[in-house]
Amino acid sequence: MEKNTSHDHDHNHGDQSTNHNHNDCIESALATAETLCVEQGQRLTKVRRRALELIWESHRPLGAYQLLAKLAEEGFNSAPPTVYRALDFLLSAGLIHKVESMNAYLGCVHADKEHKGYFLICDDCHNVMEFDYQDIHAALIEKAAQQGFELRAETIELTGLCSACKSHPTGANV
Ligand SMILES: [Zn+2]
Ligand SMILES: [Zn+2]
Ligand SMILES: [Zn+2]
Repeated sequence: MEKNTSHDHDHNHGDQSTNHNHNDCIESALATAETLCVEQGQRLTKVRRRALELIWESHRPLGAYQLLAKLAEEGFNSAPPTVYRALDFLLSAGLIHKVESMNAYLGCVHADKEHKGYFLICDDCHNVMEFDYQDIHAALIEKAAQQGFELRAETIELTGLCSACKSHPTGANV
């Protein structure tokens, strides 16, 4: 995959404690989505685009019902099938990931690269960040193969404290 459509801040994007301009994240996510849809011959319909934007509003995953409520407020056809179809589309286009343990959806920071989503989930602020998976992926495939096992799903969701929460513990009121 071409690297030129990805964003420069990909590598440290995971560190959400840094005060990055999140609007830039949203903008580049939408731009990547437009490009990918053209490449894949798909249409980024209004509801798909808005769903993606709403999911990207923060680095916290958004549940289907929260999304549904927001779309309804804005006058979209928010019947569950419409919302689930939009989510399925965004998932299959690689624009979002499902965080299984939270049953919620997260915008992907490098949608233009083929990858699995492995996540670090902060117990405190509930921000979720993707982390680099190549080494782990290779190790998993190898270990599974030693058991004659063919991997299909790789759900890796680790919980803990993000760097921001570590330096400002809850209750510290900073
Ligand atoms: Zn951001
Ligand atoms: Zn991703
Ligand atoms: Zn945190």
